[in-house]
Amino acid sequence: MTLSVSSAFDSGNIRLVSTREDGFDLEIVTDHQSDFYQWFHFRVVGGAGKALTLRIVNAGGSAYPDGWPNYKACVSEDRESWFRADTAYEDKVLTIRHTPASNSVWFAYFAPYSMERHHDLVAAAAGCEGVTVASLGKTLDGQDVDYLSVGEGPRQVWMFARQHPGESMAEWWMEGAIERLTDPHDPVARSLRKRATFHLVPNMNPDGSRRGHLRTNAAGVNLNREWHAPTTERSPEVLHVRNRMDETGVDFAIDIHGDEAIPYVFLAGFEGIPSLTEQQVANYDAYQKALARRSPDFQYKHGYARAGKGKANMSMSTNQLAERFGCVAMTLEMPFKDNDDLPDPVHGWSPERSKLLAHACLDALHEIVEDLR
Ligand SMILES: [Zn+2]
Repeated sequence: MTLSVSSAFDSGNIRLVSTREDGFDLEIVTDHQSDFYQWFHFRVVGGAGKALTLRIVNAGGSAYPDGWPNYKACVSEDRESWFRADTAYEDKVLTIRHTPASNSVWFAYFAPYSMERHHDLVAAAAGCEGVTVASLGKTLDGQDVDYLSVGEGPRQVWMFARQHPGESMAEWWMEGAIERLTDPHDPVARSLRKRATFHLVPNMNPDGSRRGHLRTNAAGVNLNREWHAPTTERSPEVLHVRNRMDETGVDFAIDIHGDEAIPYVFLAGFEGIPSLTEQQVANYDAYQKALARRSPDFQYKHGYARAGKGKANMSMSTNQLAERFGCVAMTLEMPFKDNDDLPDPVHGWSPERSKLLAHACLDALHEIVEDLR
């Protein structure tokens, strides 16, 4: 059978450069109207039993070349279970070697979270007791910015994910959070729903997700640099969400991401905002400590450098929300690679671990929720 490659599907991204007997030379395509690229997702047909060599020849010029050393590509034949394939990064080329059992095999930067699965997630949640579903508005491609709310408590908790669409682990995290928050039996969820109202945006960037982008929306705009001044032309997704936040208020916000290079789970806070208060810092620290107690996948030794006083980038959601609402806000980063404190050579960081981390994040929130405000 002839070997072929395709990416003409939801979140597909690859360009064929050349074909060999045992595989392909490939390139990742940049986000539309942007120079960012790193997300790949493609299917190889006709490779059963062949020792395939797939070379991504423009890996060295990607947005985060530090993401490639020690990275293993994700591979699946049933599109349910994803494993890590033998992968090497040398001379700016990422080489994936894999012998598929079947004639249809899928490769991706991380286990994809399709827009179809997104709609299944929203539909399942919509059917749960006490859940309100709404569209906060339209994206540039005309998709809905889906929003769920659950709970009747006085504290306003916002959880949102996938401003950067290639960080699909963020929506796996949301799936874990939503499943748990809507569980009628779970005691932590029941208690949280009594103490807080949850506002959930499982996918902030459906256009970038469907287009197979790494970091931007349909106009090539990085949504997490728009929070100070979102516009209908550039960043309607942020505008819709921020407008709703202005209506509800925010006491706790968590923005879910993935990091290409750092092989740990960590939080980034809002230390550099102009009107930082001791109470904000105390609540943030208490949350980090609670989460570290709850999950061995979380730590606070490795992470980003903290901004100095008054030096915060106010275009990022976490800083903008902490300043705007005087709330506790944070960016959660999960690895594309693995958590080096607790490595799993078969799966690396995975959808399952992302979902379990979301459960731990809710446990940690339950510990501090009474102290918010
Ligand atoms: Zn991100």
